[in-house]
Amino acid sequence: MYLKWQRKNFEDDIDFILFHQQDDIPAWWRKPLFKQYPELNYEYCYKLTQQDRFEYIRKKMSEIAENRKTEIDSAVKKFEQNWSAISDRINDIYTAVFCENCEIILNDMQALVGLNPVCPRNLSENSFSVYYKDSDRDVIETVLHEITHFVWFYFWQKYFNDDYEEYDHPHLKWLVSEIVVETIIRNSELIDLISSDTKYIAYSYFYGMGINGEQLFDTMKKLFMKRKNMKDFMLSSYKYCKENEKELREKIQAAEN
Ligand SMILES: [Zn+2]
Repeated sequence: MYLKWQRKNFEDDIDFILFHQQDDIPAWWRKPLFKQYPELNYEYCYKLTQQDRFEYIRKKMSEIAENRKTEIDSAVKKFEQNWSAISDRINDIYTAVFCENCEIILNDMQALVGLNPVCPRNLSENSFSVYYKDSDRDVIETVLHEITHFVWFYFWQKYFNDDYEEYDHPHLKWLVSEIVVETIIRNSELIDLISSDTKYIAYSYFYGMGINGEQLFDTMKKLFMKRKNMKDFMLSSYKYCKENEKELREKIQAAEN
């Protein structure tokens, strides 16, 4: 496994930060930024037009980026060091879980450390973001969450040969992937790399979510445990989400607003 750690450039960082501060984005996505940066005033921000809000956030975040350069650089070094202690095991574990050689996908990845507490990924560039202030433990969880997405989609594409655009929000294939990261990590050796008392591997609102009369993750675990192989689990988890899509989306919408 080769994961290159570096600082995320400010323009890319602010682009995605602002993406979540558009007028029609639910509070669940908007608020983490304001929680992490008390310098930003949420009430004030949402009295502004979108354009003025973007200018206000950009200006503040650029000052923050400037002032915290040293802190961010030392976070990059620390995360890299922590990661190097377990990176040798990653390829073998994913290869065992997926029953496929994962080297090709795992040998060229980038972790971009930046200011955004919401961590996006870029599938076409094999890169994902990490928040510089996250704890060592949160960072390992984020990395495993993201790597699981990359490996999942790599083989999904190989098996089903569909359109990469469907792997993004708000498509169902994207939603399935956000759910299965919990199931795959929690029920494989990957959990040993973090800790079994880890609360959230996927979005927090999935935990405790009842779908069709049963806890979402209980159903997913059952499907995972009886899989013949990972392709089989991809089909069964997708089928389940498709059948319950209406209820799933209604509950997500209620949780995000
Ligand atoms: Zn995710």
